[in-house]
Amino acid sequence: MRDRSRAYSRLRERLLSAEPLCRYCRSTGLIRGATVLDHIVALALGGTDDPANLAPTCTDCNDAKSTAEKRFLAKGYDLADVTRDPHLADWLARAEAIMSPPV
Ligand SMILES: [Zn+2]
Repeated sequence: MRDRSRAYSRLRERLLSAEPLCRYCRSTGLIRGATVLDHIVALALGGTDDPANLAPTCTDCNDAKSTAEKRFLAKGYDLADVTRDPHLADWLARAEAIMSPPV
């Protein structure tokens, strides 16, 4: 566990320095610094720590998306149901609208 969190910490540093602006804000034309990594597909929905599933994010976007995910999960939905929830579908589309630079 300790090794995993150390490896994740290094990954976080690497991804945030490669992409220092919040990806969700950029998708709407806003420029804000990213301070956390968002799991684009939440771990609770089967997402992984793979860099392709991690988006540098500001805390406001991270909190708002997390709220949308909790609401989605509370309905008993899984990832296959994402098109039934336009709000969460929009967050996922915004993560992919701007591709991360290669790291
Ligand atoms: Zn943001």
